[in-house]
Amino acid sequence: MLDPANTNNFAFLQDELLNKLYDLLNSYLATAQITEITQVYEYSAAAHTGQLRKSGEAYICHPLSVAVILAEMKMDSHGIMAALLHDVIEDTAVTKDDLTTEFGSQVAELVDGVTKLTKIDSQSRAETQAENVRKMFLAMAVDLRVIIVKLADRLHNMQTLGVMPNSKKRRISKETMDIYIPIANRLGMNEIRHQLELLSFQAMYPKRYQVLKHAVKKARGHRGEIINKIENSIQHRLQEIDLNCKVMGREKHIPSIYQKMLRKKISFSAVYDVYAFRIFADNLDNCYRILGVVHNLYKPIPEKFKDYIALPKINGYQALHTILSGPYGVPIEIQIKTHHMYQMSESGIAAHWLYKDKTCDSSAKLQTYANEWLHDLLDMQSLSGNSLEFIENLKIDLFPHEIFVFTPQGKVIKLPSGSTIVDFAYAIHTDIGTHCNSARIDKHLVPLQSKLQNGMTIEVITTEWARPNVTWLNFVVTIKARTAVRNYLKNFQQQEAIHLGRRLLEKALLDMKLSLDTVPTARLEKLLTLMEFNNLDELLEDIGLGNKMPFLCAKRIQQNNLEAGLKLDDTYTDYKKTPLTIKGTEGMVIILAKCCRPIPGDIIIGYFNPGKGIVVHRHECRNHQNREGKNNHNTWLEIEWCPKANGDFYAGIRLEILNQRGTLATIASIISKMKSSIENVQIIEQDQKTSIDLITLSVKDRLHLANIMRKIKKLPIVLKITRIKA
Ligand code: MN
Repeated sequence: MLDPANTNNFAFLQDELLNKLYDLLNSYLATAQITEITQVYEYSAAAHTGQLRKSGEAYICHPLSVAVILAEMKMDSHGIMAALLHDVIEDTAVTKDDLTTEFGSQVAELVDGVTKLTKIDSQSRAETQAENVRKMFLAMAVDLRVIIVKLADRLHNMQTLGVMPNSKKRRISKETMDIYIPIANRLGMNEIRHQLELLSFQAMYPKRYQVLKHAVKKARGHRGEIINKIENSIQHRLQEIDLNCKVMGREKHIPSIYQKMLRKKISFSAVYDVYAFRIFADNLDNCYRILGVVHNLYKPIPEKFKDYIALPKINGYQALHTILSGPYGVPIEIQIKTHHMYQMSESGIAAHWLYKDKTCDSSAKLQTYANEWLHDLLDMQSLSGNSLEFIENLKIDLFPHEIFVFTPQGKVIKLPSGSTIVDFAYAIHTDIGTHCNSARIDKHLVPLQSKLQNGMTIEVITTEWARPNVTWLNFVVTIKARTAVRNYLKNFQQQEAIHLGRRLLEKALLDMKLSLDTVPTARLEKLLTLMEFNNLDELLEDIGLGNKMPFLCAKRIQQNNLEAGLKLDDTYTDYKKTPLTIKGTEGMVIILAKCCRPIPGDIIIGYFNPGKGIVVHRHECRNHQNREGKNNHNTWLEIEWCPKANGDFYAGIRLEILNQRGTLATIASIISKMKSSIENVQIIEQDQKTSIDLITLSVKDRLHLANIMRKIKKLPIVLKITRIKA
């Protein structure tokens, strides 16, 4: 990797980077693709002209370096182009549309994706949010190349931290530790992870880094001889039995030495005075053969052997690990693996296009690779029977069921995908949910049912009078919002039920020439106690919900002997009936029946539906007609429409029509001309010539419906039209 800090001549640096990039690209890309990349490079260099990095070199050196990092990973040509362009949208006048025109939508989408991630990491500052920010990253990057470009971008920024003030170095390093290292780890990209770990450790703890680096150097000097000795004896023994393999002394990674010292509370020498080797085998079988050889050469330490080939680690890591007791009793750590296992563990998800020798030209293909990679992991997991949690997390991350959005203060809120403004509002606070009225997303006003997408910043607008609406239940997704809306509506229904109950009881009392005001309080209270109610409202609510018949309650108030109770066959038919008037728009305790769909002007009757309130049917509805002869007349209530009833009501019509092209369209246009609208159409029968359709439409009243039906009937294609009774 290049270290620009050592290069004083910046122009030289740019040339050197370019040469390096072309050397790499020539090794795996076709000439046509490289030509395209050249055009992209020139475009980006022009866009960044005049911009300098903090360290003084031309800005283009940064995207160039990112491209070099990715070319070392054999990133495909679109990925390299995206790397070269990754800062143009954010830092120059170039727009996403410009990029689409110049280089096509794929490259433009990739660059746009990287830009969005860049915005997120500058937006989020809350430390506890790290996990959510990581998930948001993964969820937002529909194309995995976006993440990989972003990781390479971060790697280069970490490599060039040198010129930054210390506080900024620490902040960026902290962010790298919180966000980027775990992502690299999740994607199995250990090589990038190790580099990021080393660089952020260096920046966060420069003194500790120096001390450890010095200690490693010193220890290495002492150990050279013994390392050679062990290496040679292993190599020698393996050659004796013709096993082709490579033995390498393994240097411990400084951040992991430090972690181990912290974790196990042991000294540097206790961590470091272990001789570590890695043996590369040609194939899987040989791994086990080599194991036999080394166990024969030095005594293995009991219980230190781990077979991660048969039982891979949860991120897919495979190798045999053993610890031997070496010459002079020094412990020797041995890892045995194939080259393939090594590469898979270094590059993780990237290995799928790195080592398969395929060039991937579309994000769909790349997603397939991601799938393959996941499958490989799953296969290994099913062999090992390990916890699937890691895979589950990863699947969720890569194929998200969750979305992550911002509050205006930059707090990240996690929601299930498909969530709406109302879900978001309730997620913040129940009061905000209850009073939410609309919202602004990225400064645009949007309705409450708008679905949210990753990375949006949402500002909920509340008003004092806004209240939850029953229609919210059709679109809310979260349990919190659903429960809160239901609870609110239940309370609301309670108020309505009390109100209706009072009207019903007063009406029944009026028939007996009584009223609640004239009933002596003591008498009323005694009755409430007998009926096991705590107060009048409870009785009224029960009446309103259809659980108690108003007439029976009135009669009980009227009769001399309160204790006597009433027999069910008592009816109020002996009394003059004053129908209850309804508007049909009262709300939740007066429900218009779906079977016959009553509208103003119809003769109607109410049915007490226990627990729900009054269901309004048309008099001629089959459900009402069927009651005759049954002993349930107390559950029916005389009602009539309030003369001023107005609103939108729904009526059902049944049509028998000739099958012709455009028939329904003709009917629909008549309905719409008559200021009505179709709510639902259902074709219930159809043969060669005719079909029978059911249409639900909105009307003002009976007259309005009659006019519409008359107009439709005049059409020659209509054989028969009737209103649906039940
Ligand atoms: Mn950048």
